[in-house]
Amino acid sequence: MQRMRALRKTSPDKAEIQQVPVPEPAADQVLLQVSAAALCGTDLHIYRWNAWARGAGIQLPRIMGHECCGEVVAVGENVFGLAIGDKVAVETHLPCGQCLQCRIGEQHICNNLKLFSIHTDGCFAEYTTVPEICARKIPQEISSRVGAIMEPLGTALRSVLESKVAGATVLVTGCGPIGLFAVASASTLGASRILASDVSAPRLEIAGRMGAHRILDPGREDPVEAVLAETGGYGADVVIEASGSITAIQQAFRCLRKGGRVALVGLPSMPLELEIGKAVVFKEAKIIGIHGRTMFDTWTRMENLLVSGKLDVLPAITHVLPLDRWQEGFDLALSGTACKVVFEP
Ligand code: ZN
Repeated sequence: MQRMRALRKTSPDKAEIQQVPVPEPAADQVLLQVSAAALCGTDLHIYRWNAWARGAGIQLPRIMGHECCGEVVAVGENVFGLAIGDKVAVETHLPCGQCLQCRIGEQHICNNLKLFSIHTDGCFAEYTTVPEICARKIPQEISSRVGAIMEPLGTALRSVLESKVAGATVLVTGCGPIGLFAVASASTLGASRILASDVSAPRLEIAGRMGAHRILDPGREDPVEAVLAETGGYGADVVIEASGSITAIQQAFRCLRKGGRVALVGLPSMPLELEIGKAVVFKEAKIIGIHGRTMFDTWTRMENLLVSGKLDVLPAITHVLPLDRWQEGFDLALSGTACKVVFEP
């Protein structure tokens, strides 16, 4: 049996590169040779085995990683839409295909949703298997590195698409990868003015390069006052909340103009208090929850924008490392030094 190197979470306090068998694709799956795989905050939660990871239903040992790009090297007997040699990016929401949501075109929020690398083995490995429906064929002109970050980019792009940013003032709170991708997407989709907030100076610097007109550090200035000052006292038309910080979420509603739209992308670690009357009802705030990408409208638009050159996300990829140096990549991400880390197996 052919073997491969894979980064496995083996126990609550350990992750390591191991030699494991190359997986066989099931009838509805393809086998990918991974060309690039990106590190996500979720991987860090699993690595540290925090409260979220302990409660996520992950069975160890598990191959880590879910954001990836690869080449199809084998197909299951019921796969008809993909062929050996196709370049694909992976959609990580694995739908059941049978439930109400799946039948009305909302498979990305399937009632029986499974997540790649949570409920299955992931892609920090030389090979990985994914269901055909989640292997999105992409054009060769999209590089493997960009292919590997299409999953988080799609989340950001969708938050911007759904909050209608053309001609609008947009505030992006949190400039991790998703926030930075939201800044770039808002710029591409015609936002007239983009404000971006984060407590990390290097991330704010990248936000400036990706299209933010005004960067603000909540550690140095009051973000609500700053946004109101920038918008004639009205507040931003759109807020994309990508930090998951409870304070930032509460402030997002104070930064929003009456009638404005808030896209919530970041995940807070606990319940939070919000004065619904003031923050939502009297303000007529439109709240849009975003869990991933629509399958596959978001993917199609994202691909078109990347191929046309209108959407540039490369500044957010700060480190590219061989998979053997995974520890270094995880440490860089945990320390906040890195933005997006991409591994090449
Ligand atoms: Zn379903």
